[in-house]
Amino acid sequence: MNDGSTTDGPTADGVVGSAVRRHVAALAPEQLPAFVYDLAALREHAAAVRAALPERVELYYAAKANPEAPLLTALRDAVDGYEVSSGGELAHVRAAVPDAPLAFGGPGKTPAEIAAAVDAGVHRWHVESEQELHRLAAVLAERPATTVEVLLRVNLPVVTDALDAVPLAMGGRPTPFGLDPEQAEECVRLLTDGGPLGRRLRLRGVHAHLASGLAAVEQLSVAEQIVAWSADLAERHGFPLTEVNVGGGMAVDYDDPAQRFDWTAFGKGLAGLLDAHPGLTLRIEPGRALTAYCGWYATEVLDVKRSHGEDFAVVRGGTHHLRTPATRGHSQPFTVLPVDAWPHPWPRPAVTTGRATLAGQLCTPKDVLARAAHDASGLRTADRVLFAMAGAYAWNISHHEFLMHPRPGFHYLGD
Ligand SMILES: *Cc1c(COP(=O)(O)O)cnc(C)c1O
Repeated sequence: MNDGSTTDGPTADGVVGSAVRRHVAALAPEQLPAFVYDLAALREHAAAVRAALPERVELYYAAKANPEAPLLTALRDAVDGYEVSSGGELAHVRAAVPDAPLAFGGPGKTPAEIAAAVDAGVHRWHVESEQELHRLAAVLAERPATTVEVLLRVNLPVVTDALDAVPLAMGGRPTPFGLDPEQAEECVRLLTDGGPLGRRLRLRGVHAHLASGLAAVEQLSVAEQIVAWSADLAERHGFPLTEVNVGGGMAVDYDDPAQRFDWTAFGKGLAGLLDAHPGLTLRIEPGRALTAYCGWYATEVLDVKRSHGEDFAVVRGGTHHLRTPATRGHSQPFTVLPVDAWPHPWPRPAVTTGRATLAGQLCTPKDVLARAAHDASGLRTADRVLFAMAGAYAWNISHHEFLMHPRPGFHYLGD
């Protein structure tokens, strides 16, 4: 469906565009809740991100943030490839965007996943352990003509000045992800000592995904430290460093949707970094910051009640569809679509305290989408609510089966 009017409102800033608004207003109550995606806004946003980046920065989309096929397709023109982290994502993304380069990461790759990824001809391997090099080599031993291009995923201790000027150490902590720096040295030796591993596994450089939710200045500082460390590593071992993937994690602000990651400043900073490293290609792999803004979780108010002095609005659906506000502990931003018709003979329950907590249908106090929200002032039963920033880590990260409520609908506008 494309009525050509998806961008007349600044949907990307958490304000509902008119196409989304009209679409949701026309749905029957039984068609709610529904995820509604504005693919035109997604394409526009992704193109703007791409345009802010220098040519020698490759933009990959981390499919884990939202792997729905229409989104993957809508991103195709703006991205250089997709980052996948399982055999399931690999098969799914390959089918949705068959020609697209894939980077394959993730800890605990099984032998079957490794074989499938080799056969799928993935563009880059993010190797997470020394054993994984051997597992990969074992799969390649059965495929004599095949070579693979490898980045070593490293868990580096980087430091950045957070906004309060307190140095914030990230990475360099115990995690199941990637190699410690000393282990990376050993892997480089195995790949560059003229032995059997290096003949089939081509070392291209380093991958590091160390932080989440950093603003552009801090992301840039992290990227500079990853590149500096990688360049030293390459020099110590005498291999040509052609690529560094500095990861994803670009900040998304659920409290203030208009507060956006500064792609222009980030792109300028990366251009400076590339000037200092002429032979290098940089890669980034954001998920959330690409797709969060294009998705809406639309529902209606089923009931409003006062509990010990506070108003609660109970909506159709809940955190079993949109889990992120519960796991991160934030209030999901939302817009109310008033529905004036009230066909019932009984009084219409409404918010009268000036604010309300928006809860879902689950029998757990954790099923809260927005807490004590002033935007819910005057909210009435049967009014519709559009939760913004539901385009990433929403449906696919949620516990759908809990309580066995029906699944939401999925609607893709502007394709
Ligand atoms: C999750 C993940 C990303 C994407 O993170 P966002 O916060 O969604 O940008 C990128 N790379 C790796 C390795 C990841 O695990």
